[in-house]
Amino acid sequence: MADATGILVFGDAPEGQLASTAQELLSAGRSLADSLGQELTIALLGADVADAPQQAIAHGADKVLAVTNPTLAEYHPDHYVTAMQTVANESNPGIILIARNNEGRELAPRLAFRLGVGLAQDCLEVSVDASTGRLLANRPVYGGSAVAVVSCTQTPQIAALRPKTYEPLDADAARTGNVIAFPVDIDPSDAKTRVVDVVKEQAVGIKLEDARIVVSGGRGLGGPEPFSQLEELANLLGGAVGASRAAVDSGWVPANQQVGLTGKTITPDLYITVAISGASQHMAGCSGSKAIVAINRDADANIFKEARYGVVGDWEKVIPALMETVRELTQ
Ligand code: FAD
Repeated sequence: MADATGILVFGDAPEGQLASTAQELLSAGRSLADSLGQELTIALLGADVADAPQQAIAHGADKVLAVTNPTLAEYHPDHYVTAMQTVANESNPGIILIARNNEGRELAPRLAFRLGVGLAQDCLEVSVDASTGRLLANRPVYGGSAVAVVSCTQTPQIAALRPKTYEPLDADAARTGNVIAFPVDIDPSDAKTRVVDVVKEQAVGIKLEDARIVVSGGRGLGGPEPFSQLEELANLLGGAVGASRAAVDSGWVPANQQVGLTGKTITPDLYITVAISGASQHMAGCSGSKAIVAINRDADANIFKEARYGVVGDWEKVIPALMETVRELTQ
């Protein structure tokens, strides 16, 4: 589109609070906007976005579009993509950033199709090409074994960013910005799909993606029972339990505990892997951990190349000893 300018981020505000993915996108968008000397706008979608616009400004937005319609109260792909298309057409941005969470995986390709442009999916990092001013997006390829740098040739350039790859900026209550009401027309009868039921995930304890300490188990645990020991260890440490895909595919733990390329991306301070080999697809979801501690009986396991600390040994001996030490230290 001619004269396209500015960075547009799409976000939402469940229960009136700016979503953490929106804060991460604002952090990425702020760095692009500063590099280009352009404005950073966030479009907040919902029936009522409450105080979220002020939160968005505190987290880096220059301008907030409060995109409201009663049909946007709950996530619906058809209504959301219609609202996003309207915003994109009217605001004519050069770059659009979308979170690649469950919703973004549906919305980003649909929006790109409707706008007739390309999409950089599953990006880990975005930057600006200093010579052309165009967006450069880093995304994993070959199952996470390599990173490709992608540039979109059409405008708007759209990138879907993997959650937890950008730290939100510290909220600065002194920042100022414009909040613009942007009611959209959406005909509910246009929807091609109908939401039959919404089942909220039963959160027990700390959410995996929010935990500062994560203990994950793999195929080498041999069955579902040992996960109760990992849960005990995670409870002692105030953390959460994750798993490799092998453990999930074996039916030992639910899919929402999977870490990796096709699971969750986590960035805890401490990541303890138990009987996990460290395949690239697993590491794609945890390589942002500040410190990895690996427990594996195979000294040649790939995980030891990625770990800061490693214990070569049988988990059945190491985990009880580790729990005993943690108990002693925390009593
Ligand atoms: P294994 O590779 O079998 O490793 C088990 C480890 O346990 C071994 O290193 C062994 O030495 C150790 N061990 C065995 N017994 C003991 C013991 N008693 N004590 C200590 N150590 C022991 N994987 C993911 O995890 N997440 C993903 O999101 C994901 N996405 C994928 C996407 C694609 C497209 C593909 C092709 C693959 C994906 N995978 C993913 C699968 C991945 O390639 C590996 O197969 C998987 O991560 C292996 O899981 P694991 O480490 O638990 O099992």
